[in-house]
Amino acid sequence: MKANAPTSSRILVIDDEQSIQKAYRTILCRAAGGSDALDAMDAALFGKTPQTPATTPTATFEVDAASQGREGVSLLNKALAEGRPYSMAFVDMRMPPGWDGTQTVEQLWKADPNLDVVICTAYSDHPWDDIAQRLGQTHRLLLLRKPFDAAEVWQLANSLSQKRLAETNAVAARQALELSHARLQLEVEARRTVEGQLKYDSLTSLPNRLLINERIERCIERSKRDAAFKYAVLFLDLDNFKSINDTLGHAMGDYLLVEVGKRLEGSLRSLDSAMRVGGDIPARLGGDEFVLLLDDVNSADEVRVIAQRLQRTIAQPTVMAGHQVAVNVSIGFVLGCPEHLVPDDLLRDADAALYQAKETGKGQVCEYDETIRQKVLSERRLSNDLKSAISLSQLRVLYQPIVSLESGLIESVEALVRWDHPELGTLGPALFIPVAEETGVIHELGLWVMRESCQQLRIWHERFPAHKSLCVSVNVSTKQLAVAGLADAIARIIRDTGLPGECLNIEITESAFIDNIEAVCKQLASIREMGVGLHLDDFGTGYSSLSSFHTLPIDAVKIDRSFVSGMGLDGRVANIVNAIQTMASNRRVKVIAEGIETIEQLAQLQALGCSSGQGYYMSRPVDAVAVQALLKENERTLTDSTPKWPRANAA
Ligand code: C2E
Ligand code: MG
Ligand code: MG
Repeated sequence: MKANAPTSSRILVIDDEQSIQKAYRTILCRAAGGSDALDAMDAALFGKTPQTPATTPTATFEVDAASQGREGVSLLNKALAEGRPYSMAFVDMRMPPGWDGTQTVEQLWKADPNLDVVICTAYSDHPWDDIAQRLGQTHRLLLLRKPFDAAEVWQLANSLSQKRLAETNAVAARQALELSHARLQLEVEARRTVEGQLKYDSLTSLPNRLLINERIERCIERSKRDAAFKYAVLFLDLDNFKSINDTLGHAMGDYLLVEVGKRLEGSLRSLDSAMRVGGDIPARLGGDEFVLLLDDVNSADEVRVIAQRLQRTIAQPTVMAGHQVAVNVSIGFVLGCPEHLVPDDLLRDADAALYQAKETGKGQVCEYDETIRQKVLSERRLSNDLKSAISLSQLRVLYQPIVSLESGLIESVEALVRWDHPELGTLGPALFIPVAEETGVIHELGLWVMRESCQQLRIWHERFPAHKSLCVSVNVSTKQLAVAGLADAIARIIRDTGLPGECLNIEITESAFIDNIEAVCKQLASIREMGVGLHLDDFGTGYSSLSSFHTLPIDAVKIDRSFVSGMGLDGRVANIVNAIQTMASNRRVKVIAEGIETIEQLAQLQALGCSSGQGYYMSRPVDAVAVQALLKENERTLTDSTPKWPRANAA
């Protein structure tokens, strides 16, 4: 602490004698204005020469003096209002005609309870006990007997000023501390709110992708330090959630997701896990996708047991708006291993395992293993290779004849794409169309197949004048229909190839109408305006099937192969085919049977009145050269006018 009083220390003197006020000034403001003349006067008053101590500072105190108590109190109030309070006050005991010292001190303390006061009194005036009794025992009050000792006055002023300064500093420090604490609290609050928005799912309040990623990252780090540490990431997906959403509405769907979130949280091993450094954590990534991080597990078997327990918990029925709803959940999981470098690696593998679980059937638990890894790797490779397959001319189109079941003559051909992969050999569309759909290559691929087959058909039209009405059917993916511009692209192909629009059919599946039905129908309407036919593929396997006749603008339905192959085995299947046939002919919709493999199937379809069909019995998908041979044969049949196929009753 500094020995000298700070230059800003203010002293209040309340004394009715002007000479004494001056004396105070002399002692306390000596450096600022003391003079020998004053010294002489003060010597008279104090009985000796006022001695300022050896340590008298160059800059001393600022002294304000008042002659009466009231005046002193108003000086104090003014100083407080200015924010420059007095460090201490010297108050005379006797100040007629106004307040005496004790009254004055009482009023001073009302204004500033922290003011230290030195009462100045002659020995005979007031005994200390009386004063103390009136003002109470307090460390804020000191007594100075007259006549003063200058050094005593200065030291009292100095040490009480220092005390006041220390007190003020302590208060300021405490306030600063409180302020910074409050600021910190606010910051934490703000961070919590921001974190809440950023890291928690607003619907279920579960951690979201950001937070689960952080926690997975910690597990990755920990497993690097501790080889024995095991953890697992589980990917969960509700089976048939979409249909619940569609049938009961989105609000109910949301309710279900919240309920699933609660159940997930409730059945984990530690409930407070989200707040802990480690622990099991559920998270929602979006839609009906949930992720779970199991921290510190022993084996895949343990994870499987936990996963199955979760499945049972989630499968418990929930009552929503009077409906009892039960959902199954499929789970894929992966155990963390050194190859997992970032959280996405684990999420990707758990997702692949989930995909496998879904393929195996609903409500399954599947662990990511070598087989899935190989499958994913080859899919990834396919996806990479597929991007350049068109430019490298690795794709080709095969054509499968669609024939009249009456005459056996070829009415049209279905274009079916093949990929001659340089290393993997010829690949069927089932292997790469899903990859193309996922990567978006389908748009380019689909239009390439269409252009190629339209060009080919134009060539056949020219070569085989008897087949001027031969058509080509091109499969169009739901993904292609989902984006605007398909109708324009088809129009360009028709214009460029010069093929009449009536000779082109597009085959779509019912799934095309699941989302955004209005936009899809609008696009289909423009396609049909060009004369292009609309055929509903794989009919009977979709979600709306029979109602499609009423609602969709279709020209033909293609009865799925599964019905055709099931007809001979189950009479009910034949009845279904019959119903489709009847309904279609009522609506003037053509029926094409797919996958005819035997003469019996052919005969049965003929008997049911089915007009057209395709299948290995007639021809497998073949290349353009082979189609030409078939068309030549067709021409001969036309000139012979002998029906190629036996009638049903003759079969
Ligand atoms: P799809 O449109 O239903 O085509 C009929 C599928 O059944 C073809 O398989 C065909 O080879 C096969 N098939 C025909 N008759 C028989 C039969 O008697 N028995 C059996 N077992 N199968 C028969 P493919 O060529 O493997 O095509 C499979 C699916 O791939 C097609 O089913 C179609 O959905 C899709 N696809 C093919 N080419 C394209 C394309 O260019 N674009 C799109 N988006 N999808 C395509
Ligand atoms: Mg098809
Ligand atoms: Mg089909």
